[in-house]
Amino acid sequence: MVKVKAATVWFAGCSGCHMSFLDLDEWLFEFAKFVDVVYSPIADVKVYPEDVDVCLVEGAVSNDEQVEMAKRIRQRTKIVIAFGDCAVTSNVPAMRNPLGKPEVVLKRAYDSPEFLNHQIPSEPGILPVLTDKVRPLHEVIDVDLYLPGCPPPAKRIQTALGQLLAGGPVKLEGRELIKFG
Ligand code: SF4
Repeated sequence: MVKVKAATVWFAGCSGCHMSFLDLDEWLFEFAKFVDVVYSPIADVKVYPEDVDVCLVEGAVSNDEQVEMAKRIRQRTKIVIAFGDCAVTSNVPAMRNPLGKPEVVLKRAYDSPEFLNHQIPSEPGILPVLTDKVRPLHEVIDVDLYLPGCPPPAKRIQTALGQLLAGGPVKLEGRELIKFG
C-alpha cells in the first residue's frame, strides 16, 4: 500500500493546534497505518520534501522566512490546509497589526530601558525579519481547506483527515465542525 505523505508546519502560532492533533490519541495509530509524516515539528526532518500529499499549516504568516516557506509548501504540496484560527484569520498574532510597524513591538519586547542590555536582536541571514503585517495563510498562498478553531478540536481534525484519507471531498458541517474560537 502506498502511504499518504503528510506534513505539518508551525508558523506564528502557540503550537496549540499541534497539541490538539496529538489529542487524537489512539486514533494516531490508525492514522499511521495510512500516512507517513514526512515533515513536522514532531519529526526531525530539515528540508520540506517534494510531492507532499497534504500539509497542515498552523499559525499566521509573520516573517520573511515563513513567507518563503509558505511558497515552498504550495509548490510541493497537493492539499494545503489552513490549520486553526491563526492560519485562517491570523487571529492572536495579528494583534500587532494595529500598532503599526513591527519595530513598535520589537522595541517594547527587547529595547525598553528597564531591561538589562536592552537592544533589538538582529542577525541578518539568521534571524527572520518580521513582515510589516501578520497575514492569514490564504493572503500569501492558495489554500485548499480551512480548519477553524483555536485550536480545532481533535474530533474536527479527525473528521477532516478521515474524509481526506477516504478520498475526499472534505465536508465540514454543523457547529461542532466549523466553529471559530
Ligand atoms: S489557532 Fe489558537 S491554538 Fe492554534 S496556534 Fe493559534 S492561538 Fe494557538
